[in-house]
Amino acid sequence: MARQDRPGRKVAVVGAGMVGSSFAYALIINGVARRLALIDRDPDRAAGEAMDLAHSLSFLQPVVVESGGYELCGDADIVVITAGAAQKPGESRLDLTRKNAAIIKKIVPLILTHNPDPIILMVTNPVDILTQVLLQESGLERSRVIGSGTMLDSSRFRHLLSQNCGVDVRNVHAYVVGEHGDSEVLVWSHANLAGAPLSEMCPVCTASCMLGVKQNIDEQVRNAAYKIIRRKSSTNWAIGLAVTRIVETILMDQDSVLTVSALWEGAHGLPSVCFSWPRLVGWQGVKSDLAFPLDPGELEALNASAEVIRDSLEALGS
Ligand code: NAD
Repeated sequence: MARQDRPGRKVAVVGAGMVGSSFAYALIINGVARRLALIDRDPDRAAGEAMDLAHSLSFLQPVVVESGGYELCGDADIVVITAGAAQKPGESRLDLTRKNAAIIKKIVPLILTHNPDPIILMVTNPVDILTQVLLQESGLERSRVIGSGTMLDSSRFRHLLSQNCGVDVRNVHAYVVGEHGDSEVLVWSHANLAGAPLSEMCPVCTASCMLGVKQNIDEQVRNAAYKIIRRKSSTNWAIGLAVTRIVETILMDQDSVLTVSALWEGAHGLPSVCFSWPRLVGWQGVKSDLAFPLDPGELEALNASAEVIRDSLEALGS
């Protein structure tokens, strides 16, 4: 049997640009998939990335890397969509909506022709709106339509808290919920260092600095993408790893709690649209939404964030 025909965990990536190729690199160096397929509107781009990645294989765990058309989605466990226009300096994520929704509507039937029941992971922005467009266009079960959501934002939040408190980021637990975008909500009421709440005081140095630094950290998380894009035109490394974490969780059935985007099923009177929330993720995709009580101010902000997404969907006619 030819190596590329052997069974094993397979991931297909549609969109081999900065984010798609950074994700592909993170995926293979972490040994998460056995087979990786790259698909792009520009086949040379996908082929070039596949060649470059394949040349690193002597240093890695075995993985087959290939490029080609949508037939490569046929036996993929997960299809990751990173195709689309990138955010331009000064352009809000919502400005991209119409452009990228049209691209997604074109891509989805091409995937489903070859694979009627994949898990599809949306990364293209505005990710919550496009996750909902994907859900509507694909007719797939809610659990199998996932957006990368605020995985990146939660990681930025944890990193900044880690820096502020001088504690290993792995001991910092904090989530960003709602839209991956300007209206996102940093959940301070649950932020903690090794279980000790951080809402007003850092338990490590017992300094009550949190009230002063909250606004600064909030601003840095919310505006991180704009600041990076102004300097280097795109963000790619951290999102590549964030998507790898989601894919690993699904392929390895890890039951991890991740702030991914999925359809909200109506609790707390919030609009039933796709946004991020701490969710249990495993082999079937999203297994459940955590019961995660927010304080009244956070709930109000989440409601406002979900309304931003609902308004954009309405403007889009979805
Ligand atoms: P990029 O321009 O480098 O890559 C986009 C790729 O998509 C290109 O290779 C292009 O040829 C391909 N493409 C465009 N239309 C296509 C189509 N119809 N079919 C197949 N391929 C197509 O952009 P990038 O920096 O990789 O960003 C990709 C997307 O990821 C953007 O929407 C960006 O905003 C988003 N992004 C999301 C997050 C997140 O947290 N969700 C983070 C960073 C970037």
